Amino acid sequence: MSAREGVVYLVGAGPGDPGLMTARSLELIASADTVFYDRLIPPGALDGARPDAELVYVGKHSAGGDVPRFRSHYGYSKRGTSSTGQGAINSMLVEAARAGKSVVRLKGGDPFVFGRGGEEGEALRAAGVEFEVVPGVTAGVAASAYAGIPVTHRDEASAVAFVTGHEDPGKSETALDWDALARFPGTLVFYMGVRRLAENAAALIAAGRDADEPAAAVERGTMEGQRTVAATLGTLAEAVEREGVGAPALIVVGQVVERRESLAWLERRPLSGKRVVVTRARAQASGLAATLRGLGAEVVELPAIRIEPRVGSENVRRAVGSIGEYGLICVTSANGAHLVFEAIAQAGLDARALGGAEKQQVRKGGVNVAGGAGAIVAAIGPGTARALAEHGIRADIVPERFVAEALIEALAPVEVEGRRVLVARAAEARDVLPDALRKRGAEVDVVPLYETVRETPAPEAIDAAQGADYVTFTSSSTVRNLTEALGDRFPRGARVVSIGPITSEAARAAGLEVAVEAERHDVDGLLAALLADAHTR
Ligand code: SAH
Repeated sequence: MSAREGVVYLVGAGPGDPGLMTARSLELIASADTVFYDRLIPPGALDGARPDAELVYVGKHSAGGDVPRFRSHYGYSKRGTSSTGQGAINSMLVEAARAGKSVVRLKGGDPFVFGRGGEEGEALRAAGVEFEVVPGVTAGVAASAYAGIPVTHRDEASAVAFVTGHEDPGKSETALDWDALARFPGTLVFYMGVRRLAENAAALIAAGRDADEPAAAVERGTMEGQRTVAATLGTLAEAVEREGVGAPALIVVGQVVERRESLAWLERRPLSGKRVVVTRARAQASGLAATLRGLGAEVVELPAIRIEPRVGSENVRRAVGSIGEYGLICVTSANGAHLVFEAIAQAGLDARALGGAEKQQVRKGGVNVAGGAGAIVAAIGPGTARALAEHGIRADIVPERFVAEALIEALAPVEVEGRRVLVARAAEARDVLPDALRKRGAEVDVVPLYETVRETPAPEAIDAAQGADYVTFTSSSTVRNLTEALGDRFPRGARVVSIGPITSEAARAAGLEVAVEAERHDVDGLLAALLADAHTR
């Protein structure tokens, strides 16, 4: 159910890995009028918010460089940009709900575990504002799990305590009972425990906890760059200091820490420890980047090109206005597929516009490969076919290899002579497909739906790319643009992975050595090639 007006949702965003956000949290973020968010929320957590939603940062620290950046077209609210006090947050929540807005209050982890969600709920109740609570995966459980530490274990820990490490042990009215914690028969998990680690460990040991008990600090649990430092209760503070462990980090004390030896899994993923540069346009990069991250890679997005839609051009409008008259429509990229439908929508039409008068059966080796009502639709590869499917169109023809030449081959059984053919593609694509179709007597309209223009890479991304293990290229235009944009800051030590022969050629022309070339010329093929290479190294 979408967010209701006048209601505040106290929502946990999980510990940092966007994949650990709950279905309910995403649903609410997607429908809320206003989202008040903290610093510790996963990257991209607000990507699904409505374009007109008001997004308000109310983190406790100044909105400096480490605040997650979201979609650039968002109008960020000027309110609450730094060090917003709890009282001010409570008032903002009440005010927004009273104005009839549906409000999401998004917090790291779980809102009721050291998240001050309880206080906010009380303030809302006192003000007579309705609220709901959406639990999140709390760091104490998640960071430990990602470190290979089970917080309970049949043989070793029948209980687990979540403890704040923030209390001042010197304070007489401290809320922490160190004697009780020392005697606690199970795992101790300290939140906010890095700064006072030495004092807290000493207090525990003084109260009788064994200094030799295994203990670990998990830094940036479930996030990119997660790190675990394991030692003993007596030596952890020193180890944490030496390794420079910073916030956010969790401290785990208990025998279960030793289970890490057999249960650590994060570091064992296929691309763990590898830094991989993704050069696709930002709009297309997310799938590849997410898959690489899932395999353990540290991903640096260095988009060298940007897609500039041209769906409003006269050329496109004319073609779309008479789209029902084409007997064959060729779509040569996923972007093209989406933009065809954007153009159709702009013309006030929908997918039915493709159901024109033309009909033909296409048989290949005795099997129907295409036919039925309307134009035959050919996609250059499965990614394009998937994009078409999102708009309700099942491509009739998808070649096995994903280059123009293969599409030409796959189109051999289609009768094109004297027919009108639409080729929907990028402005600067090669002309092999239209040329081949014209040679066969087709009347071809090439419709450039978008242009790829150069994107200037961000300086921080260029810095992060230095020392990369791999640079991936999925088109020749990205090779040219990136090598020109980076000049001598191109990470020379990285192995270049190319999606196919045309991209490889462009890379060599730009003076790069191609280490890996995909056998299948699509993103999955590129991934497979990269994995195979990483496996042997
Ligand atoms: N409500 C949050 C906790 C907020 S208190 C939850 O349920 O997880 C903030 C503390 O949580 C940090 O100081 C740190 O100790 C811990 N923490 C939050 N995210 C973390 C992460 N990704 N890795 C390790 N510790 C984390």
